Amino acid sequence: MCRCGLVHSNKKTSVAQFFMAKMLENSPNAALDKTLFQHYLTLPIPDGKCQATYIWIDGTGENVRCKTRTLDFVPIKPEELPVWNFDGGSTGQAEGSNSDVFITPVAIYNDPFLRGNNKLIMCDAYKYNRKPADTNKRVGCLQAMEAAKDTEPWFGIEQEYTLLDMDLRPLGWPKNGFPGPQGPYYCGVGANKVYARSIVEAHYRCCLYAGINISGTNAEVMPGQWEYQVGPCHGISIGDQLWVSRYILHRVAEDFGVIVTFDPKPMEGDWNGAGAHTNFSTKGMREENGIVEIEKAIDKLSRNHLRHIQAYDPNGGKDNERRLTGRHETSSIHDFSAGVANRGASVRIPRGCAEEKKGYLEDRRPASNCDPYAVAEALVRTCILNE
Ligand code: ADP
Ligand code: MN
Ligand code: MN
Ligand code: MN
Repeated sequence: MCRCGLVHSNKKTSVAQFFMAKMLENSPNAALDKTLFQHYLTLPIPDGKCQATYIWIDGTGENVRCKTRTLDFVPIKPEELPVWNFDGGSTGQAEGSNSDVFITPVAIYNDPFLRGNNKLIMCDAYKYNRKPADTNKRVGCLQAMEAAKDTEPWFGIEQEYTLLDMDLRPLGWPKNGFPGPQGPYYCGVGANKVYARSIVEAHYRCCLYAGINISGTNAEVMPGQWEYQVGPCHGISIGDQLWVSRYILHRVAEDFGVIVTFDPKPMEGDWNGAGAHTNFSTKGMREENGIVEIEKAIDKLSRNHLRHIQAYDPNGGKDNERRLTGRHETSSIHDFSAGVANRGASVRIPRGCAEEKKGYLEDRRPASNCDPYAVAEALVRTCILNE
């Protein structure tokens, strides 16, 4: 018998069993019997009924909340859905004694957890006086998208994130020490390179089922860190889809007893941070010789660096300060730079786009915890609306 309390035949299984035992002990969710749960999930529910899970962004501007209600119909359009409310006093969204906050449905997705007629409903939040809640960046984003719609803006976001165990240590990291230096983990394969691929694959399938335009996934440079991409999405839908994809990720990981953090620099030291590279194009950029439009946009971005840094994390640049150091494949938060195939620049023109002389640009500055509505709005206002 080993000190971990398990009997084992070799060192490798002891480590795996030790962590499994630890995880079950630490996460009540991981310990629940998932086979038993299947019985309840497959119970038939009355025809025409629908469980609608309303999702919204809370007062942190980073976390999502949800609650579920029964509908007597299966919704097709958000306009058919009732406005609902919640207790803002418990989400950092109350104002004085007016604690009711309204949530308005804006987009509907298939619910990959409950399946059937059940739906996930992305909402935006309004104060008691019907003004947008402080962390409701969707209203401003939608205005910008309406004003720019003739230019057909598209967005693709590369969402990086880190998995943590219940001790808030990156998943798979030794409890008292560090993994080997970065190098083998990016796009890695194998039990000593990547951790919790089941969560990644489950999330990918859930997004496809939900109707989210997820376009890929890969393991990241820091062990325990992953990326998926959503897009290209037209206009405002990038925000709706990315937020719901984040909700789904939290929910899948919750089932496995694992925590997701979108903190842009979860581990200090020689470890990569996490970003949300935003790939952006207009009709003009995608057309023949669109490189001219891409270069014009980059010139405008170079003159509005501060506006973008302020919009690229929920704390006005404070979170990104820890990440945009000029090291670990980032640019410095203080300077704007751009270049073809340059992963150390603020904005990169992908090699393929430079060769084809058209396509899109990649803004590498947004933090992993950015609000995609705020990021997309800033890009449109600077590059298209010339504001
Ligand atoms: P990287 O090489 O930086 O890792 P990825 O392959 O992870 O790039 O992500 C590229 C993203 O760019 C994808 O989300 C994709 O949908 C998006 N994208 C591709 N073409 C366009 C376009 N014309 N406009 C906006 N986004 C685009
Ligand atoms: Mn990528
Ligand atoms: Mn990446
Ligand atoms: Mn990228």
